[in-house]
Amino acid sequence: MAVHCPSCGSQFVVAKHLAKTVGGTAGLIGGGTLGVMGAVGGARQGAAFGAFAGPVGIGVGSFSGAVIGGLLGASSGGLAGAEIGEHIDKKVLKNYECNHCHHQFAESDLVMSEGN
Ligand SMILES: [Zn+2]
Repeated sequence: MAVHCPSCGSQFVVAKHLAKTVGGTAGLIGGGTLGVMGAVGGARQGAAFGAFAGPVGIGVGSFSGAVIGGLLGASSGGLAGAEIGEHIDKKVLKNYECNHCHHQFAESDLVMSEGN
């Protein structure tokens, strides 16, 4: 579907994705916090698992457990935040801007025209 400016009818319309960016960043920070908790838990589990292989195994197990826990938390938080932000962009904010007349509008303001 082509997006047309509701003010001047131009097709030179850009989506700004403001909330998506903010949401992704906020999610990344929140997810990072969860990731730290996951890292601590992962390190503990890794250390317990690595204990079978002796002192070196404890070190390697702790490290890999922490890395995996941290990465999982941060990436899942970032994705969730971006998804929520995208929803806000579409439904709430004036996410589109016309490059021709600089009119800003939301998706709900769009006139659904097929083919012209
Ligand atoms: Zn326009």
